[in-house]
Amino acid sequence: MKLRIVPLGTSAGRPTLVRGASALAAASEGGWVLCDCGEGAQLSALRAGLSLSRLDAVLITHLHGDHFNGLPGLLGTLGLEGRERPLVVAGPEGIAALLKSLERAGALGVGDMEVRVVEQRGPGGEVRLEGSPFLIESRPLAHRVPTYGYRVALPDRPGTLDVAAADAIGVPRGPLLADLKAGRAVTLPDGRVVGPEGLVGPKRRGASMAYVLDTVPCPAAVELGRGVDALVHESTYEQGRADLARARGHSTGLEAARIAAEAEAAALVLTHFSPSVDAEIVAEEARAAHANVIAAKDLGEILSEAPSSA
Ligand SMILES: [Zn+2]
Repeated sequence: MKLRIVPLGTSAGRPTLVRGASALAAASEGGWVLCDCGEGAQLSALRAGLSLSRLDAVLITHLHGDHFNGLPGLLGTLGLEGRERPLVVAGPEGIAALLKSLERAGALGVGDMEVRVVEQRGPGGEVRLEGSPFLIESRPLAHRVPTYGYRVALPDRPGTLDVAAADAIGVPRGPLLADLKAGRAVTLPDGRVVGPEGLVGPKRRGASMAYVLDTVPCPAAVELGRGVDALVHESTYEQGRADLARARGHSTGLEAARIAAEAEAAALVLTHFSPSVDAEIVAEEARAAHANVIAAKDLGEILSEAPSSA
């Protein structure tokens, strides 16, 4: 199963003519999750062809406006669409009270939709979703306000079944093959018991990505990004302004690349560019520390597929 990564807003602080405020979709067959919801995120999602009714969860990193201000509008649209399926909204402590006060003022209009707010605290952990293929974990990052990064993964899949080998030992086509593929031993019509060993290859790892913004370089970013297919990391400034980045709780592209290299992430997707930087220069600096660096563009889709064996 593929994981489509669609940057919906790649600017820092405020939108520009070509970059919206922070938002990114991780989509798979049947559903998607939204990482951050800056102003304009829902419009950008529509342009990307993402169906709002298939949205499984919104993962908010922190409550700075450029990551949050699109959420009331998005929730209002889901309410207008008559959505009844609950929506999980994960975010830092304080997000529940903030949404509550917007609701009390009549600013949300979610109708009958239940918004399941899951506040992240302490070391973070699993964010449980029902009826969604996504496996989500959070970790606290190091910004100026409480901030959580997220890892979004698809489940591992069974290994490949060697049908010819199964034929050769007399496993009939049909449900017994499916049982073998699922890793279970089966009893053949002649009474022999056959296990999956030697017939089914190793589990295939599900595609995964990590979403790490806003933050200074931190160990949690490495943990979230460990072995992922794509690490999406903020890179607000070029290396010449590393001191400014640190003072404001941000990272440079080169610092993000060092995190990606340490985490052994297959690809590094840079985003959250200050309107004052040239994203291509930030990406070029990052290539000194990681071989596969992409400067995200709004609606510039990135496909991520885990390799076929574990
Ligand atoms: Zn930001």
